[in-house]
Amino acid sequence: MIGCDCSVCGSTDPRDNRTRPSVLLQFPAGNLLIDTTPEMRIQLLREKIRHIHAIAFTHHHADHLFGLDDARLFPKMIGGPVPVFCEQQTEDCIRRAFSYAFAEHVKNWPPGFVPQVDFVRVGPGIEFETLGQKIMPIRLDHGRFSVLGFRIGNLAYCTDVNHIPDSSWPLLEGLDTLILDALRPEPHPTHFCVDEALQVVERVRPRQTYFTHISHFLGHEETQAILPAGVHMAYDGLVLDF
Ligand SMILES: [Zn+2]
Ligand SMILES: [Zn+2]
Ligand SMILES: [Zn+2]
Repeated sequence: MIGCDCSVCGSTDPRDNRTRPSVLLQFPAGNLLIDTTPEMRIQLLREKIRHIHAIAFTHHHADHLFGLDDARLFPKMIGGPVPVFCEQQTEDCIRRAFSYAFAEHVKNWPPGFVPQVDFVRVGPGIEFETLGQKIMPIRLDHGRFSVLGFRIGNLAYCTDVNHIPDSSWPLLEGLDTLILDALRPEPHPTHFCVDEALQVVERVRPRQTYFTHISHFLGHEETQAILPAGVHMAYDGLVLDF
């Protein structure tokens, strides 16, 4: 947190050094990135990821979106616009926030100058396919917004959520790995706090859970020490098999 002197912001534990939330899914046919954070470029350089073949968006908030300009390099690598899987409200916001990328005069520009994307509409409960994989969007409530979680096989990524609608619970059955929003100890109007996230874990009973979207109110080591078995603090650079 800019201007903060708390023990987490001053921590020397690299796991307390957090950029904004995103996950990369590496499939045999290519890489699917979920969300393009303001640090996307830094994250991809750090992890030595050379190609992104498709992008899916949970929602349009700046902490999940504002790295999209750096996606202008990907069409060169994959030979065409990047497929972007999102809801209508997310597409509308992307078109406004990155209006220069959709201007008439850039239409025939070669790749590399502005992000070139092909929007693909997705919706909750309707499976879609990309890179040879079936992906199920899950409706999640994020304060007064609706966002999407994504389930790929037995893994689900559910960030920016403070309530799970009744219709979404069946889509979380039989999970091996759940990646779940847990912002801080105190309740928050748009994110699960730790206790609320643990209640979700109780109900879903995944084999393992990783908390994400963690704020500086939660130090990695001291929080990990009080979490039940099978529940972990995620951290930048964490790699999971699924
Ligand atoms: Zn702090
Ligand atoms: Zn958000
Ligand atoms: Zn967020």
